[in-house]
Amino acid sequence: MSFNVAVIKGDGIGPEIVVEAMKVIDKAVAKKGITMNYTQVLMGGASIDEHGVPLTDETLEICKNSDAVLMGSIGGNTTTSPWYQLPANLRPEAGLLALRKGLNLYANLRPAYLYEELKSACPLKPSIIENGFDMLIMRELTGGIYFGEHRTDVEDGIRVARDFLTYDENEIRRIAIKGFDAAMKRGKKVTSVDKANVLDSSRLWRKVVEDVAKDYPEVTFEHMLVDNCAMQIVYNPAQFDVLLTENMFGDILSDEASMVTGSLGMLSSASMSDGKFGLYEPSHGSAPDIAGQNIANPIATILSAAMMLRYSFDLDEEADAIEAAVKQVLAEGYRTVDIMSEGCTKVGTSEMGDLIAARI
Ligand code: NAD
Repeated sequence: MSFNVAVIKGDGIGPEIVVEAMKVIDKAVAKKGITMNYTQVLMGGASIDEHGVPLTDETLEICKNSDAVLMGSIGGNTTTSPWYQLPANLRPEAGLLALRKGLNLYANLRPAYLYEELKSACPLKPSIIENGFDMLIMRELTGGIYFGEHRTDVEDGIRVARDFLTYDENEIRRIAIKGFDAAMKRGKKVTSVDKANVLDSSRLWRKVVEDVAKDYPEVTFEHMLVDNCAMQIVYNPAQFDVLLTENMFGDILSDEASMVTGSLGMLSSASMSDGKFGLYEPSHGSAPDIAGQNIANPIATILSAAMMLRYSFDLDEEADAIEAAVKQVLAEGYRTVDIMSEGCTKVGTSEMGDLIAARI
Protein backbone atom coordinates (compact mmCIF):
# COMPACT_ATOMS: atom_id res chain seq x y z
CA MET A 1 0.00 0.00 0.00
CA SER A 2 1.21 3.51 -0.69
CA PHE A 3 -0.08 7.05 -0.27
CA ASN A 4 0.76 10.22 -2.17
CA VAL A 5 1.55 13.12 0.10
CA ALA A 6 2.23 16.64 -1.14
CA VAL A 7 4.75 18.28 1.18
CA ILE A 8 4.97 22.03 1.69
CA LYS A 9 7.95 22.63 3.95
CA GLY A 10 7.17 26.35 4.14
CA ASP A 11 9.15 29.21 5.64
CA GLY A 12 11.00 29.95 8.89
CA ILE A 13 11.15 26.80 11.02
CA GLY A 14 8.89 24.96 8.53
CA PRO A 15 11.63 22.94 6.77
CA GLU A 16 13.20 21.87 10.10
CA ILE A 17 9.97 20.57 11.66
CA VAL A 18 8.51 18.94 8.53
CA VAL A 19 11.61 16.79 8.10
CA GLU A 20 11.11 15.44 11.63
CA ALA A 21 7.45 14.64 10.93
CA MET A 22 8.41 12.73 7.76
CA LYS A 23 11.02 10.79 9.74
CA VAL A 24 8.40 9.76 12.30
CA ILE A 25 5.72 8.88 9.71
CA ASP A 26 8.15 6.68 7.78
CA LYS A 27 9.08 4.83 10.96
CA ALA A 28 5.41 4.36 11.92
CA VAL A 29 4.25 2.94 8.59
CA ALA A 30 7.33 0.85 7.80
CA LYS A 31 6.23 -2.16 9.87
CA LYS A 32 3.26 -2.81 7.60
CA GLY A 33 5.31 -2.19 4.47
CA ILE A 34 3.36 0.97 3.67
CA THR A 35 5.20 3.60 1.68
CA MET A 36 4.64 7.33 1.44
CA ASN A 37 5.37 8.98 -1.88
CA TYR A 38 6.28 12.55 -1.01
CA THR A 39 6.14 15.32 -3.61
CA GLN A 40 7.66 18.56 -2.42
CA VAL A 41 6.03 21.77 -3.59
CA LEU A 42 6.46 25.44 -2.72
CA MET A 43 3.92 27.77 -1.15
CA GLY A 44 4.14 31.02 0.83
CA GLY A 45 7.36 33.02 1.04
CA ALA A 46 9.49 30.32 -0.60
CA SER A 47 7.15 30.36 -3.60
CA ILE A 48 7.30 34.18 -3.80
CA ASP A 49 11.10 33.99 -3.92
CA GLU A 50 11.06 31.30 -6.62
CA HIS A 51 7.99 32.16 -8.72
CA GLY A 52 6.94 35.68 -7.70
CA VAL A 53 3.59 34.45 -6.36
CA PRO A 54 2.72 32.69 -3.08
CA LEU A 55 0.79 29.86 -4.78
CA THR A 56 1.23 28.60 -8.34
CA ASP A 57 -1.39 26.64 -10.31
CA GLU A 58 1.07 23.75 -10.44
CA THR A 59 1.37 23.55 -6.63
CA LEU A 60 -2.41 23.65 -6.28
CA GLU A 61 -2.81 20.91 -8.91
CA ILE A 62 -0.23 18.62 -7.23
CA CYS A 63 -1.94 19.11 -3.87
CA LYS A 64 -5.36 18.35 -5.40
CA ASN A 65 -4.05 15.13 -6.93
CA SER A 66 -2.49 13.91 -3.67
CA ASP A 67 -4.12 11.86 -0.91
CA ALA A 68 -3.19 14.51 1.66
CA VAL A 69 -0.96 17.54 2.17
CA LEU A 70 1.61 17.85 4.96
CA MET A 71 2.73 21.38 5.65
CA GLY A 72 5.07 23.37 7.89
CA SER A 73 4.16 27.00 8.47
CA ILE A 74 4.52 29.85 6.03
CA GLY A 75 5.27 33.54 6.37
CA GLY A 76 8.08 35.70 7.68
CA ASN A 77 8.61 38.53 10.11
CA THR A 78 5.68 40.77 9.23
CA THR A 79 7.60 43.96 10.10
CA THR A 80 10.97 43.33 8.50
CA SER A 81 10.45 40.76 5.72
CA PRO A 82 10.25 42.20 2.18
CA TRP A 83 7.32 39.82 1.52
CA TYR A 84 5.17 42.24 3.54
CA GLN A 85 6.02 45.18 1.28
CA LEU A 86 4.08 43.38 -1.47
CA PRO A 87 0.37 44.00 -2.15
CA ALA A 88 -1.84 41.91 0.15
CA ASN A 89 -2.77 39.42 -2.58
CA LEU A 90 0.91 38.58 -3.19
CA ARG A 91 1.96 38.03 0.43
CA PRO A 92 2.65 34.54 1.89
CA GLU A 93 -0.70 34.33 3.73
CA ALA A 94 -2.58 34.96 0.47
CA GLY A 95 -1.13 31.66 -0.77
CA LEU A 96 -2.48 29.81 2.25
CA LEU A 97 -5.95 31.35 1.91
CA ALA A 98 -6.01 30.49 -1.82
CA LEU A 99 -4.81 26.93 -1.11
CA ARG A 100 -7.52 26.39 1.52
CA LYS A 101 -10.14 27.73 -0.88
CA GLY A 102 -8.75 25.76 -3.87
CA LEU A 103 -8.78 22.51 -1.88
CA ASN A 104 -12.21 23.31 -0.41
CA LEU A 105 -10.82 22.91 3.11
CA TYR A 106 -13.77 24.32 4.97
CA ALA A 107 -13.28 22.58 8.33
CA ASN A 108 -10.34 23.25 10.61
CA LEU A 109 -9.82 20.86 13.52
CA ARG A 110 -7.55 22.02 16.32
CA PRO A 111 -7.22 19.87 19.41
CA ALA A 112 -6.16 21.57 22.65
CA TYR A 113 -5.08 18.88 25.06
CA LEU A 114 -3.25 19.32 28.35
CA TYR A 115 -0.42 16.81 28.73
CA GLU A 116 0.03 15.70 32.33
CA GLU A 117 3.81 16.17 31.93
CA LEU A 118 3.39 19.79 30.76
CA LYS A 119 0.98 20.97 33.42
CA SER A 120 3.71 23.18 34.89
CA ALA A 121 3.91 25.10 31.57
CA CYS A 122 0.19 25.90 31.67
CA PRO A 123 -0.35 29.53 32.73
CA LEU A 124 -3.62 28.71 34.52
CA LYS A 125 -3.88 28.11 38.28
CA PRO A 126 -3.39 24.46 39.35
CA SER A 127 -6.94 24.40 40.78
CA ILE A 128 -8.35 25.22 37.31
CA ILE A 129 -6.48 22.46 35.49
CA GLU A 130 -6.69 19.82 38.20
CA ASN A 131 -8.57 17.44 35.92
CA GLY A 132 -6.85 18.49 32.70
CA PHE A 133 -8.79 19.42 29.56
CA ASP A 134 -9.29 18.05 26.11
CA MET A 135 -11.13 20.22 23.62
CA LEU A 136 -11.40 20.32 19.86
CA ILE A 137 -12.01 23.62 18.11
CA MET A 138 -13.99 23.06 14.92
CA ARG A 139 -13.51 26.29 12.98
CA GLU A 140 -15.17 27.24 9.69
CA LEU A 141 -12.29 28.07 7.38
CA THR A 142 -13.40 29.32 3.97
CA GLY A 143 -16.12 31.85 4.71
CA GLY A 144 -16.85 34.79 6.94
CA ILE A 145 -15.04 38.09 7.18
CA TYR A 146 -11.64 36.80 5.97
CA PHE A 147 -13.17 35.95 2.59
CA GLY A 148 -15.57 38.88 2.24
CA GLU A 149 -14.81 42.01 0.25
CA HIS A 150 -12.17 44.27 1.83
CA ARG A 151 -11.85 47.85 0.75
CA THR A 152 -10.66 51.25 1.84
CA ASP A 153 -12.21 54.39 0.37
CA VAL A 154 -11.76 58.08 0.95
CA GLU A 155 -15.07 59.65 1.86
CA ASP A 156 -15.42 63.35 2.67
CA GLY A 157 -11.63 63.56 2.87
CA ILE A 158 -11.14 60.74 5.41
CA ARG A 159 -10.16 57.10 4.90
CA VAL A 160 -12.89 54.54 5.59
CA ALA A 161 -12.13 50.79 5.65
CA ARG A 162 -14.77 48.06 5.25
CA ASP A 163 -14.62 44.25 5.62
CA PHE A 164 -17.73 42.24 4.77
CA LEU A 165 -18.83 39.24 6.84
CA THR A 166 -21.07 36.82 4.94
CA TYR A 167 -22.29 33.28 5.66
CA ASP A 168 -24.94 31.32 3.80
CA GLU A 169 -26.86 28.51 5.46
CA ASN A 170 -25.13 25.74 3.46
CA GLU A 171 -21.71 26.86 4.68
CA ILE A 172 -22.99 26.83 8.25
CA ARG A 173 -24.73 23.46 7.92
CA ARG A 174 -21.71 21.53 6.59
CA ILE A 175 -19.36 22.78 9.33
CA ALA A 176 -22.01 22.11 11.98
CA ILE A 177 -22.30 18.51 10.74
CA LYS A 178 -18.51 18.12 11.00
CA GLY A 179 -18.67 19.47 14.56
CA PHE A 180 -21.43 17.12 15.66
CA ASP A 181 -19.78 14.14 13.93
CA ALA A 182 -16.55 14.89 15.80
CA ALA A 183 -18.46 15.17 19.09
CA MET A 184 -19.93 11.70 18.54
CA LYS A 185 -16.37 10.30 18.50
CA ARG A 186 -15.37 12.28 21.59
CA GLY A 187 -17.23 13.61 24.63
CA LYS A 188 -20.62 14.10 22.88
CA LYS A 189 -20.88 17.79 23.67
CA VAL A 190 -20.97 20.74 21.27
CA THR A 191 -20.66 24.38 22.31
CA SER A 192 -21.59 26.59 19.37
CA VAL A 193 -19.89 29.98 19.66
CA ASP A 194 -21.24 33.15 18.05
CA LYS A 195 -22.11 36.82 18.63
CA ALA A 196 -25.85 36.48 18.09
CA ASN A 197 -26.63 39.49 20.30
CA VAL A 198 -25.08 41.74 17.63
CA LEU A 199 -24.52 40.01 14.27
CA ASP A 200 -27.07 38.81 11.72
CA SER A 201 -24.62 36.20 10.48
CA SER A 202 -24.53 34.79 14.04
CA ARG A 203 -28.32 34.72 14.28
CA LEU A 204 -28.48 32.62 11.09
CA TRP A 205 -25.62 30.50 12.48
CA ARG A 206 -27.72 29.73 15.60
CA LYS A 207 -30.81 28.73 13.62
CA VAL A 208 -28.92 26.38 11.29
CA VAL A 209 -26.84 24.80 14.09
CA GLU A 210 -30.04 24.20 16.08
CA ASP A 211 -31.51 22.36 13.07
CA VAL A 212 -28.41 20.18 12.72
CA ALA A 213 -28.42 19.45 16.48
CA LYS A 214 -31.82 17.77 16.11
CA ASP A 215 -30.12 14.95 14.16
CA TYR A 216 -27.75 14.27 17.08
CA PRO A 217 -29.96 13.59 20.11
CA GLU A 218 -27.05 11.99 22.00
CA VAL A 219 -24.98 15.18 21.81
CA THR A 220 -25.39 17.77 24.56
CA PHE A 221 -25.64 21.12 22.84
CA GLU A 222 -25.34 24.73 23.99
CA HIS A 223 -24.82 28.20 22.54
CA MET A 224 -22.20 30.55 23.96
CA LEU A 225 -21.34 34.15 23.05
CA VAL A 226 -17.76 34.51 21.86
CA ASP A 227 -16.76 37.03 24.54
CA ASN A 228 -18.00 34.71 27.28
CA CYS A 229 -16.26 31.77 25.59
CA ALA A 230 -12.94 33.63 25.60
CA MET A 231 -13.34 33.99 29.38
CA GLN A 232 -14.53 30.43 29.97
CA ILE A 233 -11.45 28.96 28.23
CA VAL A 234 -9.27 30.42 30.98
CA TYR A 235 -11.81 30.01 33.78
CA ASN A 236 -13.01 26.43 33.23
CA PRO A 237 -11.51 24.81 30.13
CA ALA A 238 -12.54 21.30 31.22
CA GLN A 239 -16.20 22.13 30.44
CA PHE A 240 -15.53 22.02 26.69
CA ASP A 241 -15.51 19.12 24.26
CA VAL A 242 -16.15 20.43 20.73
CA LEU A 243 -16.20 24.21 20.23
CA LEU A 244 -17.97 24.90 16.95
CA THR A 245 -17.46 28.35 15.50
CA GLU A 246 -17.00 30.61 12.49
CA ASN A 247 -13.75 31.65 10.89
CA MET A 248 -12.53 34.74 12.76
CA PHE A 249 -13.83 33.71 16.19
CA GLY A 250 -12.20 30.30 15.67
CA ASP A 251 -8.91 31.91 14.68
CA ILE A 252 -8.78 33.89 17.92
CA LEU A 253 -10.17 31.22 20.28
CA SER A 254 -7.89 28.50 18.95
CA ASP A 255 -4.82 30.63 19.66
CA GLU A 256 -6.13 31.28 23.16
CA ALA A 257 -6.77 27.55 23.70
CA SER A 258 -3.25 26.88 22.38
CA MET A 259 -1.77 29.18 24.95
CA VAL A 260 -3.48 27.50 27.91
CA THR A 261 -2.00 24.14 26.91
CA GLY A 262 1.40 25.66 27.64
CA SER A 263 3.01 25.73 24.22
CA LEU A 264 2.11 26.48 20.65
CA GLY A 265 4.82 23.99 19.75
CA MET A 266 2.60 21.09 20.87
CA LEU A 267 -0.58 21.83 18.92
CA SER A 268 -1.60 19.96 15.82
CA SER A 269 -4.19 20.93 13.25
CA ALA A 270 -6.11 19.41 10.36
CA SER A 271 -8.11 21.13 7.64
CA MET A 272 -10.53 18.90 5.84
CA SER A 273 -12.95 18.88 2.93
CA ASP A 274 -15.93 16.58 2.44
CA GLY A 275 -14.16 13.27 1.90
CA LYS A 276 -10.96 11.98 3.51
CA PHE A 277 -8.72 14.60 1.95
CA GLY A 278 -7.03 16.95 4.37
CA LEU A 279 -4.15 19.34 4.89
CA TYR A 280 -2.15 18.82 8.07
CA GLU A 281 -0.03 21.51 9.67
CA PRO A 282 0.99 22.74 13.11
CA SER A 283 -1.21 25.44 14.69
CA HIS A 284 1.73 27.76 15.19
CA GLY A 285 3.33 30.04 12.66
CA SER A 286 6.75 29.94 11.01
CA ALA A 287 8.54 31.39 14.08
CA PRO A 288 11.12 33.37 12.05
CA ASP A 289 12.72 34.48 15.33
CA ILE A 290 14.10 30.97 15.96
CA ALA A 291 14.44 29.64 12.39
CA GLY A 292 17.58 27.72 11.43
CA GLN A 293 18.74 27.18 15.02
CA ASN A 294 17.55 23.58 15.50
CA ILE A 295 15.60 24.63 18.60
CA ALA A 296 11.99 24.62 17.32
CA ASN A 297 9.60 22.10 18.81
CA PRO A 298 8.62 19.62 16.06
CA ILE A 299 5.88 17.89 18.11
CA ALA A 300 2.93 19.90 16.75
CA THR A 301 3.92 18.89 13.23
CA ILE A 302 4.53 15.29 14.27
CA LEU A 303 1.07 15.16 15.92
CA SER A 304 -0.43 16.72 12.77
CA ALA A 305 1.16 13.89 10.80
CA ALA A 306 -0.51 11.44 13.21
CA MET A 307 -3.85 13.12 12.44
CA MET A 308 -3.10 12.64 8.73
CA LEU A 309 -2.60 8.92 9.25
CA ARG A 310 -5.85 8.68 11.23
CA TYR A 311 -8.23 10.91 9.29
CA SER A 312 -6.98 10.64 5.69
CA PHE A 313 -5.47 7.12 5.57
CA ASP A 314 -7.39 5.24 8.30
CA LEU A 315 -4.07 4.14 9.83
CA ASP A 316 -5.36 4.44 13.39
CA GLU A 317 -2.83 2.05 14.94
CA GLU A 318 0.09 3.98 13.47
CA ALA A 319 -1.41 7.30 14.60
CA ASP A 320 -1.86 5.90 18.11
CA ALA A 321 1.76 4.71 18.08
CA ILE A 322 3.01 8.19 17.23
CA GLU A 323 0.92 9.81 19.97
CA ALA A 324 2.08 7.22 22.50
CA ALA A 325 5.72 7.82 21.49
CA VAL A 326 5.28 11.57 22.07
CA LYS A 327 3.83 10.94 25.54
CA GLN A 328 6.67 8.54 26.34
CA VAL A 329 9.38 10.99 25.32
CA LEU A 330 7.73 13.68 27.49
CA ALA A 331 7.41 11.25 30.40
CA GLU A 332 11.14 10.48 30.08
CA GLY A 333 11.79 14.19 30.60
CA TYR A 334 12.96 15.31 27.15
CA ARG A 335 11.97 18.86 26.24
CA THR A 336 12.64 21.41 23.52
CA VAL A 337 13.42 24.88 24.83
CA ASP A 338 9.83 26.19 24.55
CA ILE A 339 8.52 23.56 27.00
CA MET A 340 11.65 23.23 29.11
CA SER A 341 11.28 22.97 32.87
CA GLU A 342 13.58 22.24 35.79
CA GLY A 343 15.04 18.74 35.98
CA CYS A 344 14.26 17.96 32.32
CA THR A 345 16.72 17.26 29.50
CA LYS A 346 16.88 19.94 26.82
CA VAL A 347 17.01 18.63 23.24
CA GLY A 348 17.00 20.22 19.80
CA THR A 349 14.55 19.81 16.92
CA SER A 350 16.23 16.86 15.20
CA GLU A 351 17.02 15.08 18.46
CA MET A 352 13.37 15.32 19.50
CA GLY A 353 12.35 13.79 16.16
CA ASP A 354 14.92 10.98 16.63
CA LEU A 355 13.70 10.25 20.17
CA ILE A 356 10.06 9.99 19.08
CA ALA A 357 10.87 7.86 16.03
CA ALA A 358 12.96 5.52 18.18
CA ARG A 359 10.02 4.88 20.53
CA ILE A 360 7.61 3.73 17.81
P1 NAD B 1 4.46 32.14 15.54
O1 NAD B 1 3.51 31.07 15.92
O2 NAD B 1 5.32 31.87 14.37
O3 NAD B 1 5.41 32.47 16.78
C1 NAD B 1 4.92 32.96 18.02
C2 NAD B 1 5.97 32.64 19.12
O4 NAD B 1 5.95 31.23 19.38
C3 NAD B 1 7.40 32.96 18.70
O5 NAD B 1 8.11 33.41 19.81
C4 NAD B 1 7.96 31.63 18.24
O6 NAD B 1 9.36 31.50 18.40
C5 NAD B 1 7.22 30.64 19.13
N1 NAD B 1 7.00 29.35 18.45
C6 NAD B 1 6.11 29.09 17.47
N2 NAD B 1 6.22 27.82 17.06
C7 NAD B 1 7.18 27.26 17.82
C8 NAD B 1 7.77 25.96 17.86
N3 NAD B 1 7.37 24.96 17.06
N4 NAD B 1 8.75 25.72 18.75
C9 NAD B 1 9.17 26.69 19.59
N5 NAD B 1 8.66 27.94 19.60
C10 NAD B 1 7.67 28.22 18.71
O7 NAD B 1 3.59 33.47 15.31
P2 NAD B 1 4.03 34.88 14.73
O8 NAD B 1 5.41 35.24 15.21
O9 NAD B 1 2.90 35.78 15.02
O10 NAD B 1 4.06 34.68 13.17
C11 NAD B 1 5.24 34.44 12.41
C12 NAD B 1 4.85 34.21 10.97
O11 NAD B 1 4.08 33.02 10.85
C13 NAD B 1 4.00 35.34 10.37
O12 NAD B 1 4.42 35.57 9.07
C14 NAD B 1 2.61 34.76 10.39
O13 NAD B 1 1.78 35.34 9.40
C15 NAD B 1 2.90 33.31 10.10
N6 NAD B 1 1.84 32.37 10.50
C16 NAD B 1 1.63 31.33 9.66
C17 NAD B 1 0.69 30.37 10.00
C18 NAD B 1 0.49 29.22 9.05
O14 NAD B 1 1.33 28.94 8.24
N7 NAD B 1 -0.61 28.52 9.14
C19 NAD B 1 -0.01 30.48 11.19
C20 NAD B 1 0.25 31.55 12.04
C21 NAD B 1 1.20 32.50 11.69
